[in-house]
Amino acid sequence: MLAPEQTMPHQHYIDGSWGQAASGKTFDVVNPATKEVVATLPEDGAEDVDAAAHAARRAFDAGDWSTTSQERRCDILLEILKHCEEASGDWAMLDAMSGGSTLRKTTLIDIPLALEHFRQMVTQARSVSWYEPLAWTDMPHVSWNFVQRSPIGVCGLIVPWNFPLPIALWKIAPALAMGNSIIVKPSPFAPLSILAFAKAVDETGLLPKGVFNVLTGGSPALGEALVVHPDVDKISFTGSTATGKKILHQAADSIKKVTLELGGKSANIVLDDADLDIAVDGTLFGVFLHQGQLCESGTRCFVHESIYDEFMERLVAKASSLVVGDPLDPVSNIGPLINEAAYTRITASLKEAVSQGARIRCGGSRPDGIDLPGAFLAPTIIDGVTPDQSICREELFGPVLVVEKWSSQSEVIARANDSLYGLAGGVWSRNTVRAIEIARQLQTGTVWINDWHLINGLAPFGGYKQSGIGRELGPHGLLEYTEVKHIHVDQGIPREDRFIYDVLLG
Ligand code: NAD
Repeated sequence: MLAPEQTMPHQHYIDGSWGQAASGKTFDVVNPATKEVVATLPEDGAEDVDAAAHAARRAFDAGDWSTTSQERRCDILLEILKHCEEASGDWAMLDAMSGGSTLRKTTLIDIPLALEHFRQMVTQARSVSWYEPLAWTDMPHVSWNFVQRSPIGVCGLIVPWNFPLPIALWKIAPALAMGNSIIVKPSPFAPLSILAFAKAVDETGLLPKGVFNVLTGGSPALGEALVVHPDVDKISFTGSTATGKKILHQAADSIKKVTLELGGKSANIVLDDADLDIAVDGTLFGVFLHQGQLCESGTRCFVHESIYDEFMERLVAKASSLVVGDPLDPVSNIGPLINEAAYTRITASLKEAVSQGARIRCGGSRPDGIDLPGAFLAPTIIDGVTPDQSICREELFGPVLVVEKWSSQSEVIARANDSLYGLAGGVWSRNTVRAIEIARQLQTGTVWINDWHLINGLAPFGGYKQSGIGRELGPHGLLEYTEVKHIHVDQGIPREDRFIYDVLLG
């Protein structure tokens, strides 16, 4: 097996140098399937945050990156990307060894998608207009007005474990392209591909020192220190809604700019005219990819009553045939949960649902025949629930699909929208006009029609309601890393015509 030290440094990256935590402490990154330690990294604390924040601030204020032209920044980032593509051969393995993703997923989706989204964000950054003209105004007298955009400053980028490199690059690419200095904080469960990316960036020597920093650590205190640091101007966070709420509180004191990409409980609506071959496979793809540990997973499935029995039969048969096992084995469709705590939480929720009348149609426990110690849970489908049950309302972040029957279109839309979350949704139908009509009424940041998980580098991604604040990707994602300034230019109006001054002076 590949040794991670050959691919990525076991150190943090501050001010253009690799190093250990000021305290000398370390933490272990564990393979969730085997429970073996795959890397030992610095356990950074407040002192390291201080060092990274000061380096990032110095670099920003020096202007070598923040004031260079947009064209030049994009050229440099695309050159860096070229080197990353050449260096990325082992990155899929790193994430399969640490986050529990199957090697199939990291090879076919995570790494190529992350790099492609990086390219798309940088390419779109070329067309961001740094100056926007405004209409002339003569109120109270004639002036010329325009808007100037500028980078925000130092951005702290906090990343979860479930889709590590793509989510990191959804933040890194726009933040750098818009001229900011950044401090990236990966999840302690899956930091390896992000460190490998940092190594590749460092090898190019193309970024000024201090513009790009990476901190590592296993304690929530590290993220908190970043959020409250006075030299950090903005936090872009992806993670659970519970942590997002804490971050909003922590950021309040300094009125830090915050974007949040949080949890979801996305509704998947299957219409009576759906192509069942596509809808069954698409529903399974939408909910069980990465063991259901994706924020936009379609965890609530609403199936029209006229096709319910056939749909369920096909869904359960296929879900039961998925291979659960070692994520590094190419035949595995489903790997382990991130840890034992997740297994305990999810199975407790299933037990509660069953005690309230739910039926487990498949899965619900560890499959037989797996000789690895990780927390494996078979793909689970349940029905017979009522909408008020917590299994229908709370994000489980595991391979569990709740299926409900519907008969009236207005009622199913209301049920889909009856959620604290609003991240994603889906509609399966042969009638695109009807599907769009439903999509328009769903209170979510993304709706897929006859598809799922197709997060697009050219389109905004983010949540309504408690699924977040702000957007990533697309032009909207770029603008999240800019400040907006209105500049008013007087047109040489004589003093006697400036009657507004006379409100005070006249
Ligand atoms: P998490 O909230 O536990 O951790 C996310 C990151 O925040 C990690 O880097 C963690 O170390 C850090 N962190 C933890 N406590 C912190 C604190 N108090 N202050 C600052 N940082 C802190 O989430 P997770 O378990 O890593 O990821 C799973 C969650 O992320 C799920 O809820 C999922 O829905 C959500 N998610 C959302 C999106 C999205 O785009 N909306 C994408 C992926 C994951």
